[in-house]
Amino acid sequence: MSRRACVIGAGPNGLSAAITLAQAGLKVDVFEAEPQPGGAARTLDLTLPGYHHDFGSAVHPLAVGSPFFNSLSLQNHGLEWIHSPAALAHPFDDGTAITLSRDLTQAESELGQDAKPWRNLMRPFADHWTDLANEVLRPISLFPSHPFLMTNFGRQALRSAKSLAHSLFQNDRTKALFAGIAAHSVLSLDEPSSAAAGVLLGAALHAVGWPIPRGGAQSITSALCSYLSHCHPERSEGPTHFVRPTNALQASDDAPGGYAANFPDTSLGSTLTTSTRIENLAALPNYDVTLCDVTPRQLLTLAGDRLSSKYKNQLAKFQYGPAVFKVDYALRDPIPWKARECLQAATVHLGGTFEEIAASEKAMRTGHHAERPFVLLAQPSLFDPTRAPADRHTAWAYCHVPNASTFDMLPRLEAQIERFAPGFRDCILARHILSPAGLEKMDANLIGGDISGGAMNLRQLLFRPTRRQYATSAPDIYLCSSSTPPGGGVHGMCGHQAAKLAINRLNA
Ligand SMILES: Cc1cc2nc3c(=O)[nH]c(=O)nc-3n(C[C@H](O)[C@H](O)[C@H](O)COP(=O)(O)OP(=O)(O)OC[C@H]3O[C@@H](n4cnc5c(N)ncnc54)[C@H](O)[C@@H]3O)c2cc1C
Repeated sequence: MSRRACVIGAGPNGLSAAITLAQAGLKVDVFEAEPQPGGAARTLDLTLPGYHHDFGSAVHPLAVGSPFFNSLSLQNHGLEWIHSPAALAHPFDDGTAITLSRDLTQAESELGQDAKPWRNLMRPFADHWTDLANEVLRPISLFPSHPFLMTNFGRQALRSAKSLAHSLFQNDRTKALFAGIAAHSVLSLDEPSSAAAGVLLGAALHAVGWPIPRGGAQSITSALCSYLSHCHPERSEGPTHFVRPTNALQASDDAPGGYAANFPDTSLGSTLTTSTRIENLAALPNYDVTLCDVTPRQLLTLAGDRLSSKYKNQLAKFQYGPAVFKVDYALRDPIPWKARECLQAATVHLGGTFEEIAASEKAMRTGHHAERPFVLLAQPSLFDPTRAPADRHTAWAYCHVPNASTFDMLPRLEAQIERFAPGFRDCILARHILSPAGLEKMDANLIGGDISGGAMNLRQLLFRPTRRQYATSAPDIYLCSSSTPPGGGVHGMCGHQAAKLAINRLNA
């Protein structure tokens, strides 16, 4: 009889865990609280009919560069990447912009006197992206397979973005460009390791690009679901059986945790059941192994009675990171950028100079709200006509705010867009605002609006969420969300690594 596994949560990491378990011959039941799988990789109609918006992730260097996703050939399951002519645009107040090409030689022509230092920084990592991704998209090892590459990477990545930018680059524009990329870390740019995101995402930009999926982030999720439904036809009794929507768990006074199980027919093979929030693992039947695509705070509720006091104390110390304040737009026209070349890039970083971006990120890290926030903006409909009705457009924008902030950043966020695109407000047909609380309401893992599953500071890069990483104090329960290594981003590597550990221990 085949062994059975349960996965709580169908985000990219939950689905990756489920696929890895199914590949190893286990029958997997996935339970997802929301009506649609995908977690923060979902595409929803948030504004007007016909306008499709990425609820969470929009731009996907770590997905296209993920060793696990690449092993699945997701293009055979409908996933299609779109690369905008420039990967990234960074406009300035004088009406000009840097547009950074994926091609490093072409990019150098944008960077003037900083062409050489940019190349020296990015080329060694871009040229060895596969090795780098295999090393950094997993728990950090003291004995890496590529020691020279990793020593070189560590030397740069462990620095603050401020120290790296000021020591390597001459030109204020290049410093600002690097600040915008590094600010994806959601750290203050003078914190140790705040350069890591700048170096990693910069190298990814030149190695694999910063593409968007045709149809939105949901296409990544759909491809993963499709793969799961096909991944062990010979070994299982049947294909993955998708149950949607469902009342698989009915409230009951008799069962532990107040729930009685009414499970889908698992004889059909693996299952994915949506609209089913698991409140307590005790409500589930016995599984050989349970992987939880949730953050530490949720695990304490789900499995507190199964965990040791010591481990629970460690989990309780886990730090959540700052939040985002996000707005999705339905637009009459493309954004009227002062620097028209911004129309060449799916991603635009709005923050002006290094100093301004650094001040914005420092404010957010110290519990304040920046007067002029650093805004990350995506304009997918320019390159993917499936996102909006003909000749209409969408935009996705957010800025960083303190965790659980209730401050209304809309005027400041839109003032930043207007600053670089006067007349933007006149293009808006509709907008949908997601405060930190709004984000958490739509995906329980986004605690206080934290999009990374916990602060990505140096300590939590190493011990995420504890020294045990994926394992917990209960031998059959594992964590597999972005609260484990390597952390936030759509790459599936947390789920894949957690499932590998679970399988190894089951087989031991
Ligand atoms: C606004 C925003 C912008 C982002 N931008 C990008 C980007 O451009 N590029 C990028 O790579 N990454 C981006 N990210 C980050 C990325 O989306 C996440 O890091 C990634 O989705 C994490 O995957 P996960 O599977 O760990 O968690 P999630 O995607 O959060 O999935 C967790 C799932 O578990 C479910 N769940 C939780 N508790 C239960 C329960 N008790 N019972 C059943 N189900 C449960 C949730 O409903 C959810 O579906 C962004 C995220 C957000 C929110």
